[in-house]
Amino acid sequence: MKPTVSLGRIFGIKVGVHWSVLVIAGLLAYGLTGGVQDLQLWIVAIAAVVLFLGSLLAHELAHSIIARRNGMQVTGITLWLLGGVAQLGGPMPSAGAELRVAAAGPATSLALGAGFLLLAIAGAASGVVSSLVVSAIGWLAFVNVVLAVFNLIPAAPLDGGRILAGTLWAIHKDRHRAEITATQAGKLFGFGMIGLGLAGTFLNIPFVTIWTALLGWFIVSAATTEQRHARLSRSLGELRVRDVMSANPETARGWITVEAFADDARREPPRHHVFPVEQWEGGISGIVTLDALRAVAPEDRLTTRVVDVAVPLALLTTTTPDERLVDLISRPSAGRLPYALVFDAGRLAGIVAPSDLARATSLAALHPPIEPPAPPPVPRAPHLDN
Ligand SMILES: [Zn+2]
Repeated sequence: MKPTVSLGRIFGIKVGVHWSVLVIAGLLAYGLTGGVQDLQLWIVAIAAVVLFLGSLLAHELAHSIIARRNGMQVTGITLWLLGGVAQLGGPMPSAGAELRVAAAGPATSLALGAGFLLLAIAGAASGVVSSLVVSAIGWLAFVNVVLAVFNLIPAAPLDGGRILAGTLWAIHKDRHRAEITATQAGKLFGFGMIGLGLAGTFLNIPFVTIWTALLGWFIVSAATTEQRHARLSRSLGELRVRDVMSANPETARGWITVEAFADDARREPPRHHVFPVEQWEGGISGIVTLDALRAVAPEDRLTTRVVDVAVPLALLTTTTPDERLVDLISRPSAGRLPYALVFDAGRLAGIVAPSDLARATSLAALHPPIEPPAPPPVPRAPHLDN
């Protein structure tokens, strides 16, 4: 979720707004006014919606501040269509930290709800605050409590799911198992919301709309991503790229013709199927496969260079020896070929082939999952709040 507009930093944390937040803000303001054309009503409604977005931001800031205090990286907060997203990275150091970070958001929303409620009561008692303003403050109290309660549902990626994961982690001392259980609950809950939302839309059940289904779909997809990551982390553990890569792979010279490559291969048959392609001026320009070389018609082999049939570097996955294998596999943008080139300080250090990954996964499965002494940095899927 890339913010459309940056709002700068609050407590040193980058805050941004995605354009889709305008959709929810507009819907809320329209809902509050009931579409009545009254300037005063609209001013109060818009102020209430802005304060609501501020409440969402406070919820996310609470997560972020506690996360940072527990040594995690906080990339930033973005407000969007379905609420707020706090992007947290780096190691979740302990089950306790997981619990504290997760609980901070709903606790903040509950506190805000209580604060707005007291304000509404005081406003009503004073007799000088208009009933319109009092009801707007009452609405803010209500939505903050709803926000807290909804987020406490024990289904990851909701805060309640993280609290569940932290609790199970503390009890069973198995973080990945805890994450898998919490995300499983998230998938079930999300599917339930999709079903309810669709049924509600067709049967005209009050407060149950296509919005419910949309939110359910988002929860399912976030839970699925997190679960895949947890399963991979569980089987691959702390393995790094350097542990599985083929170091110092055979390369092909990009500037020679396919014919020259074939002659060399006849004299000294290569032991691999793919080759990083060297450039005349030094460095690596891509990867070439035996299949691509073979596909060149015999009459063209004297005029086609190896580099002409190579896949350029820009279309390939590149990594470093220190990257965790689970992070490499979880990267969203896979290259055009299922190979990753490994560079160490700009120099080619190795290549990771699908067979390397398969071997690593199988070997890892032979060993029971071990809780590593230093918790690995787990890139977390965007955190959801509605
Ligand atoms: Zn939250």
